[in-house]
Amino acid sequence: MVDIIIIGAGAAGMTAAIYARRASKTVLVLEAMSYGGQIINTPDIENYPVAAHISGFDFATKVYEQAKALGAEFKFEKAVEIRDNGDSKTVVTAKNAYEAKAVIIATGSENRKLGVEGEDKLVGRGVSYCATCDGAFFRNKKVAVVGGGNTALEDALYLADIAETVYLIHRRDRFRGEDSTVEKLRQRANVQFVYNSQVTRLNADKRLQSIEVTDKQGNVTTLEVSGLFVAVGRIPENQNFASVVELDGAGYALAAENCRTKTPGVFVAGDNRVKEVRQLVTATADGAVAATEAIKFINA
Ligand code: NAP
Repeated sequence: MVDIIIIGAGAAGMTAAIYARRASKTVLVLEAMSYGGQIINTPDIENYPVAAHISGFDFATKVYEQAKALGAEFKFEKAVEIRDNGDSKTVVTAKNAYEAKAVIIATGSENRKLGVEGEDKLVGRGVSYCATCDGAFFRNKKVAVVGGGNTALEDALYLADIAETVYLIHRRDRFRGEDSTVEKLRQRANVQFVYNSQVTRLNADKRLQSIEVTDKQGNVTTLEVSGLFVAVGRIPENQNFASVVELDGAGYALAAENCRTKTPGVFVAGDNRVKEVRQLVTATADGAVAATEAIKFINA
């Protein structure tokens, strides 16, 4: 039995681990993939206090090392269920079952798919959800980015340094992401904006050869691109925990700013919680709040 199990080693989960360890609680962090979460794909963080520039990888590694040095234990196993036993909770993974006095769900979110035929088969053959991971494969080639949020804008900016041409395809004519990044993109000669348009077809041999884009009037254009970077938002990863946490229509966990859920001793922190602003700084803030509430719950 540990004091607190934290599900997810992203910014929220690892911050929660730091706060819990500093309160001398025993902590087990369960992570399905690798530490870092969504931020690991961000090439340059410019809006987190202290550092004017830091890569997402460096940021995540520093937080991971900080949590480890404080004594948090990490196990790389996917949590598939939380059982509420009243005084304790059991977290079931694919391999094991662990018991804790409190659980913090900090699972974040996964990439939303475009839903165009052939998309899944072409992942790794031209279709990608991570510009910083796969951008280097498209040096001096033509690529497209789909989406209008900060991720799409930042992906396009990153790829503009690598690719010959970057088409930025958005379904509306106004971006959801920050104006300052849009302005940086406008200054890049190799970035072309494709507004009011959706990707409607992927043409491939073994790899992606081109895409078809359909605008609001129904006009279809073929763009010869060998890379398609999909950045059309995220889906919260709460599905496995619906028995202990109430979800809204979009799958976000309902919890107030104190991160408490409907189940005493189960807390939710980060991008998978219902909230207005999803930023790195709000994720780490959630981690601090959830850990503090979990500590209060255990000590009560
Ligand atoms: P997002 O803000 O939810 O934006 C998703 C974009 O994809 C929207 O522009 C949306 O269009 C479009 N979209 C959704 N479904 C689509 C579909 N089926 N086909 C075509 N387009 C579709 O997602 P995100 O960019 O991944 O960002 C997630 C969160 O992380 C946001 O809160 C964002 O601010 C934050 N973030 C912040 C930073 C930063 O601060 N530096 C960096 C990255 C992400 P509509 O606009 O028409 O809805």
